[in-house]
Amino acid sequence: MFEKPLNSLPSDEYLSHDELKDLYGILKSQADSILDHSRSAVSTLTETQINDPDTLDLAVSESNRDFTLRFADRDRKLLQKIRHALHRMEEGEYGVCESCGEPISYARLKARPVATMCIDCKTEAEQVEHPRRRSF
Ligand SMILES: [Zn+2]
Repeated sequence: MFEKPLNSLPSDEYLSHDELKDLYGILKSQADSILDHSRSAVSTLTETQINDPDTLDLAVSESNRDFTLRFADRDRKLLQKIRHALHRMEEGEYGVCESCGEPISYARLKARPVATMCIDCKTEAEQVEHPRRRSF
């Protein structure tokens, strides 16, 4: 999948082959741990239902269930972002800001490998979403 290296791109700021490989590894292991986690969350959910069939503590088991489902939903969203990032890698578009087309720094990607925007565009987008934060 690294058949299309980014060496056609003009700037050193773009990710090197090694950096891409590194980030690919991080994304893959994040995806794996989410999948593991959601599998165990699902089995916990099933166990709770089996072990607690008589509404002994329905309130607790209901709120556990809500928590598990909410958590699963967040995981699912992150997993979508990871898949999107991996897809962009395959397309040779990874590490380029989706908003302005400038390279996203390796340091930023290392901290947040699913980032699709450079820090400037991200900050701007957040200010549009939450205009009150502009007060600083
Ligand atoms: Zn940008």
